[in-house]
Amino acid sequence: MIALQEKRWTELADIKDELAARDWFMGTSGNLAIKVSDAPVKFLVTASGKDKKKRTAEDFLLVDAAGKPVEKTHLKPSAETLLHCAVYSKTTAGCSLHVHTVANNVISELYGDDGKIDFQGQELIKAFGMWEEDALLSIPIIPNYADIPRLADEFSQHLGTDKGAVLIRNHGITVWGKDGFEAKKLLEACEFLFQYQVTLNQIYSK
Ligand SMILES: [Zn+2]
Repeated sequence: MIALQEKRWTELADIKDELAARDWFMGTSGNLAIKVSDAPVKFLVTASGKDKKKRTAEDFLLVDAAGKPVEKTHLKPSAETLLHCAVYSKTTAGCSLHVHTVANNVISELYGDDGKIDFQGQELIKAFGMWEEDALLSIPIIPNYADIPRLADEFSQHLGTDKGAVLIRNHGITVWGKDGFEAKKLLEACEFLFQYQVTLNQIYSK
């Protein structure tokens, strides 16, 4: 268990470093989680309020299915840990990532009234396992409820598959996948698609 936990820690810390290099943790925002065990569910989650550009032994802590620390610690789990709890209670995913970027916020505002944004005819939707030429990737956009349990409840309505993505309006995105590699791949694909759409809209509006 300890060896596995260390392995998962390193996996998550490496992802954190990569996302930090992309500047995807503005103002200490964002939080990451990776599952360590299934029965009972335990996962490592970002400790609250850390500078995610630095790599330290206090970046993550182990929590249970309810998001409570498993061991005695002075660290506090991220305020948004309940979103990760929802992922691990409703799907078989092994990793979930949540980041705030300008592109995902702009897209969530532009398409928020539709409750979703669709992508079709885009190479990058293959990251979601969609290979058909007419495949449609639909990413839900939910309201940004300040009450985290309410937000987590709304978010969990969209956890029907073992990999996916949900946008929270003017807040950020949460993606989940079977492991860190898959979750990061989905996050990168989403951010590519969002940046593409923002750029295209700018050109069309000229
Ligand atoms: Zn957030």
